[in-house]
Amino acid sequence: MKKINLFFLFILFTSFLFAREVKPVKNVILMIPDGTSIGVYSAARWYKVYNNMGDALHIDPYFTGTVSTFSSNAPIGDSAPTTSCYMTGIPSRSGYISTYPVHDPGNDLYPIDSTMAYQPLATILEASRIENNKATGLVVTCEFPHATPADCAAHHYNRGNYSALAPQMAYQNLDVMFGGGNSILTKDIKQHFKNNGTRLIQNDKDAMLNYNEDNPIWALFGDRALPYDLDRNPNTTPSLSEMTEKAIDILSKKENGFFLMVEGSQVDWAAHGNDPVGIITEYLAFDEAVGKAIEFAKKDGETVVVILSDHGNSGITIGKSDCKGYDKLTLEQLFGEVSKYKNTASGIEQKLIDVKPEDMKAEFKKHTNIDLTDDELKSLLSSKNYKEGNYMEITNSPNLTHNIINIINSRMCFGFTTGGHTGEEVLLAAYHPDGDVPMGHLKNTEINDYLFKVSGLKTPLTKMTQRIFAKHHEVFDGLQYTIENKDADIPILVVRNKKNTLRVPAFSSVASLNVKSFDLGSVTVYIDKNDTFYLPVNLANKIK
Ligand SMILES: [Zn+2]
Repeated sequence: MKKINLFFLFILFTSFLFAREVKPVKNVILMIPDGTSIGVYSAARWYKVYNNMGDALHIDPYFTGTVSTFSSNAPIGDSAPTTSCYMTGIPSRSGYISTYPVHDPGNDLYPIDSTMAYQPLATILEASRIENNKATGLVVTCEFPHATPADCAAHHYNRGNYSALAPQMAYQNLDVMFGGGNSILTKDIKQHFKNNGTRLIQNDKDAMLNYNEDNPIWALFGDRALPYDLDRNPNTTPSLSEMTEKAIDILSKKENGFFLMVEGSQVDWAAHGNDPVGIITEYLAFDEAVGKAIEFAKKDGETVVVILSDHGNSGITIGKSDCKGYDKLTLEQLFGEVSKYKNTASGIEQKLIDVKPEDMKAEFKKHTNIDLTDDELKSLLSSKNYKEGNYMEITNSPNLTHNIINIINSRMCFGFTTGGHTGEEVLLAAYHPDGDVPMGHLKNTEINDYLFKVSGLKTPLTKMTQRIFAKHHEVFDGLQYTIENKDADIPILVVRNKKNTLRVPAFSSVASLNVKSFDLGSVTVYIDKNDTFYLPVNLANKIK
């Protein structure tokens, strides 16, 4: 009975909530401050007030509602299934990147069809490109195959499997990819960029900002993620707002319009660390990007901007029970200390990691204005990753960053309930030139519905999924096929018919017929759990 009720509730929501017309627009910008709970907006706003940076956030005039964001079988979401749901319309399980979940009997919060387990699901980005010939872009501060960007342009049940996710993102033929992850590029990815004319810019901010060609562009900074905004060298590393502005500048020249996703990737990471200055300044860096996107949308008149987080993180509050009488504290008492820090805790760690034990007190004071107690000094010197540490003193204690955060937080009154994700709803903000914005309390599935409609898509995503991600044994039924595993990371499906041989590599958009390469128009996915290739349904015509 309970299950039937759930099913009807979802049908009801998806059929009626957006039954009202939403006017489609040319360009859609989706912005995700990862892991941003409501307390982050409040703290960031007061931080601005205290530091004479104004009293409002760029997002403030555009709040329209709240969104429940959850996994298919749990109310607290992980980054992989949460943005997947915005992209595909189907909630999924922890770790799943735009992939249909495995049924979890008794726990599923959404009607799950067990025959569809591991099925890659077409995303708004893929549908926008394939159906409406839109340009596509991703702008992030994490490494490019990290969960949120991967959710837009790749598919796998394991978010950590970069050998499956990274090539898909490259073969997705994005027009713009700005972010981190140079060390993740493979020889094959670089060759593909040469073949399809993508300009690859590595660690060169000026080259990115001055880019003025028609070809697709990837600009990556650093081996993995970019530094936190507060720790960034502005001469060598662009801000999220600079990357967003440049991406919009490039994409807005494309005649069919564009879909762009911008992620403030590391609000979440600072929240995992319970680092207040990191959380606040990462959000503010994201908020600057929001300002740029809204400014463009208003001028352009054909652009929608949707802004929402993917889940809460850390339970951050202004005020905590450890601070006696905290509800009477002044603005100075609450925001004076956090405003002194010129680096995040992770940035301070970089400055302390090689410092000699005898210099630690002075060096710590230099960056934090804090006089360490003897116990605090001991905690720093015994940090697991402290390079100058005496091995007799190094314990199994946490890393330096963690110990720095403990010291800093003992002098501030921000509260944290956890170092992980939380299950409350996230704030939703949106701008539409005609005011057709999503309003009230929505579910994650309804965000997908809104993005689908406002993008002007007609083919339901379930149909698009059947078209671009059909199972190989159904597509090539009756033909002779084998899966080659010479390269364990990239298996190849080989199909033979009379004298013809079709070779389809996994996680690619380029296949070959009798050694002649051709473009598939979408990426292929191989799933080891069911030994299945997912590929375009019309591929059979090539060889039949
Ligand atoms: Zn997240």
